[in-house]
Amino acid sequence: MRARRPILREAEQRELVLGERRVAYTLKRSSARRTLALKVGEDGEVTVNAPMRMAWHRIEAFLNQHADWLRQRLENLRRQTFRWQDGIELPYLGSLRRLSMEPAALPLVFPLADRILVGGGEDGAAVLVTDWYRSEAARLLPERLFAHVARVGYPMPRFRLTGASSRWGSLSPTGVLSLNWRLLKASEAEIDYVICHELAHMRVPNHSSRFWREVEALYPGFEEPKARLRQNAALYFQF
Ligand SMILES: [Zn+2]
Repeated sequence: MRARRPILREAEQRELVLGERRVAYTLKRSSARRTLALKVGEDGEVTVNAPMRMAWHRIEAFLNQHADWLRQRLENLRRQTFRWQDGIELPYLGSLRRLSMEPAALPLVFPLADRILVGGGEDGAAVLVTDWYRSEAARLLPERLFAHVARVGYPMPRFRLTGASSRWGSLSPTGVLSLNWRLLKASEAEIDYVICHELAHMRVPNHSSRFWREVEALYPGFEEPKARLRQNAALYFQF
């Protein structure tokens, strides 16, 4: 009988850039594998299986080849897994609030400390709650923007609320600063990071190292909320 060689395994966390999004994944290497595999779990977990000693550039090329497939798969999953129903948890300013559907109540949204009440049937809830988020964002985001502008002594840019499907904010060449209403789901630190990121573009239009120094000057310690926003992107873009 031949002695069995022990199977060697290694796992590491890595990140993949998919257009404007960054996707965290686990790279699992195993001496028992001969081929590459890319898997997306029901919960959106991305795993790449690779042979133990395969060169990184080959894995990278494989990922680039499958980038479109992966993007599509993650998008579909995000839409499939979200259902408007009583009891779901909705992110709001960095915490989760339970959605309470009150079919007998008027079709309005009532925010409570730990819950968001929505009247009317299940059918209308998506529109009512989404509109409520938008109107809250239209009120709170410019306030927050103004606070930062006043603090750093920049001129107040023109402001626009957007519903872009994958961007948090932008600064147009004509100086209009846009923020996504979905930022209302994020924590204050995440919102502040996006605002300071866009404000920094008023001085530096690109993403050079000079730009990131400007962001750091406007918002010291921005790396942490920046990373958190990336991790939470799928949750915030659910609806
Ligand atoms: Zn930017």
